[in-house]
Amino acid sequence: MTKAMFPGSFDPPTLGHINIIERSAKLYDKLYVVVADNIAKKCLFTAQERIKLIKDNFINHDNIEVLSYNGLTVDIAKELGVDVMIRGVRALADFGYEFELAMTNKQLLPGVETLFMPTDPHYFLLRSSAIKEMAAFGADISKMVPANVANELSKRVVNRNNL
Ligand code: ADP
Repeated sequence: MTKAMFPGSFDPPTLGHINIIERSAKLYDKLYVVVADNIAKKCLFTAQERIKLIKDNFINHDNIEVLSYNGLTVDIAKELGVDVMIRGVRALADFGYEFELAMTNKQLLPGVETLFMPTDPHYFLLRSSAIKEMAAFGADISKMVPANVANELSKRVVNRNNL
């Protein structure tokens, strides 16, 4: 049985994330989506909220599990016994950072491979931080995030100090 994980902040999950999750789940028997619960990073949504925002988009997907962690990615990878770590890449700018991260993780945990999955061209420009900012200024973000995320973003009083 091959197991993979897709780690990230997902604050909030975008259609770009959802697309990577859907495609990865087809490649492996089990996919863990691991939401970073990092107290040092200020997030708009709590880890539990982010888990629910992702889960609600994958109700009928038996091989997808969504959970949070608050340590090193390699530690949770070891704990879950995954073979592969998936990372989505949008552009060259992402690649430099992602490549270094993959090198570091390989040193820390040689048994786990990193797979870079290029974004779907439709979602090339989607970035959680930019979407929160657009939402705070009242822009229409309904084509950038799943409907449940669009709802939550609009319900929440998103002001610039929250970002
Ligand atoms: P962000 O970079 O938007 O703050 P995360 O830390 O939540 O995102 O990213 C988790 C993973 O998802 C990373 O591998 C990131 O490169 C990838 N990702 C983020 N947005 C997209 C997108 N639009 N298309 C493909 N992958 C993405």
